Amino acid sequence: MIIHISDQMDQQGYDLLEKTLTRLSIGFTSVTTQRQQYYVCIPKEPFDIRVIGNLSGVLDVHRVSDPFKLVSSQWKTGRSAIDLGNDVLISDRDFSLMAGPCSIESEKQITAVADFLLSQGIRIMRGGVFKPRSSPYAFRGLGLEGLKLFHGICRTKGIKIVTEVMQVAETEQMAPYVDIFQVGARNSQNFNLLDALGSMDVPVLLKRGISGTIEELLQSAEYIFSKGNEKILLCERGIRTFEPAYRNTFDINAISILKEKSHLPVIADPSHGIGLRKHVGNITMAAFVAGADGAIVEIHPEPERAFSDGQQTLDFNEFSCLHKKIRHLKEAFRK
Ligand code: PEP
Ligand code: MN
Repeated sequence: MIIHISDQMDQQGYDLLEKTLTRLSIGFTSVTTQRQQYYVCIPKEPFDIRVIGNLSGVLDVHRVSDPFKLVSSQWKTGRSAIDLGNDVLISDRDFSLMAGPCSIESEKQITAVADFLLSQGIRIMRGGVFKPRSSPYAFRGLGLEGLKLFHGICRTKGIKIVTEVMQVAETEQMAPYVDIFQVGARNSQNFNLLDALGSMDVPVLLKRGISGTIEELLQSAEYIFSKGNEKILLCERGIRTFEPAYRNTFDINAISILKEKSHLPVIADPSHGIGLRKHVGNITMAAFVAGADGAIVEIHPEPERAFSDGQQTLDFNEFSCLHKKIRHLKEAFRK
């Protein structure tokens, strides 16, 4: 159950609400986000919700049977959108393309990608500076200095940044330079990190775990929301299956199911989803058709020289062809 609290609620109102919940033996968690205030309750026995609904300062009471509550679509009418400022909005009214290299490598590379994105009318650039790598000998990113360089160049061009944060200790120092924090697949259930990001007012792109279920992804999103941060993007990036013909199995079903189960925007990551450059475009289009609200795509001026994930990275020409096809799809679907 979610109790939606009016911003006019006074102390007496809170006291009475909590006393009533305690009398009914209903455990509760009070959640204050950057947008609203809620009480999330897990009642053990059925009860008359009018007892709560009639209290002063209570806007609404919603029954939510899903195990994840605040991120569930069972209570919210309409879909959540994320406003990054300067007219950059991620919502279900558009398909937001975000693109950039797997790893930030140099000033020259950032500038080349940022200028290319601007020429395409794309305002969100991805790029990792803290890279989770399977091998400790692989390139692990340029770190905070790389992020400052990335931010400095993108800010002057009006481009927003999405970059991965790997540990709680780095959240605060990264925040001034980040527009969207990415939580990578390997950290999808790092609950301490999710708690920390939930306490900040920075949007989070939360990726599905490598072997994570849809419900686990939604429960991870619930961690962030319940700590106070509503600005969450759910990301399908492929899961590990028995199939070795490609890097991951992009779960197209998850796009449609996530849109049904949650009011949060759903973003596809076709690059990691299939892991093969040649097929990234088709999978992006499939994600669009399945109902995704956007996609995050790896691109590089010279994919064969990329420090990481070159095998799944599009060059500028391939990306602009894909962008054109997406524009056509958008037009076709509008009709
Ligand atoms: C990435 O975005 O480059 C990345 C490492 O993603 P994932 O966590 O999905 O593997
Ligand atoms: Mn990558």
